[in-house]
Amino acid sequence: MPDLAGILPELAAEMAAIKDRGTVAGYIPQLGKVDPDQFGIAVMMNDGRVFTAGDAGKPFSIQSISKVFSLTLALGHVGDALWRRVGREPSGNPFNSIVQLERENGIPRNPFINAGAIVVADILLQGHQPKEAIGEALRFVQYLADDETITIDRAVAASERATGFRNFALANYMRAFDNLRHPPELTLGVYFHLCAIEMSCVQLARAGRYLAHGGRHPDTPHSVVSAERARRINALMLTCGHYDGSGDFAFKVGIPGKSGVGGGILGIVPGVASLAVWSPGLNANGNSKLGSQALEILARRMNWSIFAPRG
Ligand code: GLN
Repeated sequence: MPDLAGILPELAAEMAAIKDRGTVAGYIPQLGKVDPDQFGIAVMMNDGRVFTAGDAGKPFSIQSISKVFSLTLALGHVGDALWRRVGREPSGNPFNSIVQLERENGIPRNPFINAGAIVVADILLQGHQPKEAIGEALRFVQYLADDETITIDRAVAASERATGFRNFALANYMRAFDNLRHPPELTLGVYFHLCAIEMSCVQLARAGRYLAHGGRHPDTPHSVVSAERARRINALMLTCGHYDGSGDFAFKVGIPGKSGVGGGILGIVPGVASLAVWSPGLNANGNSKLGSQALEILARRMNWSIFAPRG
């Protein structure tokens, strides 16, 4: 195997030298304050080895990466019935787009765009108070990462609520199609708080391990999900995890990945590793600019694309 312990610091140094770092997500005022001159990366190999570089231990807002964990949890609650309310096709549209919803009767294209994740949050709310649903999701992420120090940044959640007009529009619109079962402000309360979970690259890469291990939690004898479900979540990450930039990410990097407007990306190399990268500046699709570049370089050096011949 190429020498990851050497490659990661090299990669961090290469990224530090880049001047054009993209734009931080100013539409959420609290995220607009984050210093763009940061870069971190963490790789958890399936054999237990851990490699990190840069700001790998610094917590950031995971934003839409939470959509992977909330989907996993909601599938546990309602199983494949979830797919009656959310599709499984790439949207080819921005993450917060409303246009497809009218033509497609309030059924979002996939669980990784905002509309889809709002329906998923609505499913998590079933039979619970918002506080309980948020608590359950946070505990689930803590369990996956085996780290109880993971928290929600309340200021980010409040900032999103104050400026989340598009998300309110999406939720109200889907409620009109009866694809939301709770008052939009309650469902969105769950959605905003899950987006506002704070994690470092190390914590995020740990939380993603079950997807690299065929659904198994590597610290326990238990399965988080079946091998088939893990494979399917990975497939959705590959096809939908970067919104209208998903095709480009598959083309350049070639692994399942999920981005968030906090600048993080969770990447899965099935059977090999779970990894997370973070740099707050975004490209035009709302995906981390340097994060995507770094993963492209890393996947090439490691031959990690799922489309590359093995062995
Ligand atoms: N909380 C963000 C929003 O709803 C999540 C979007 C993202 O990370 N792409 O706009």
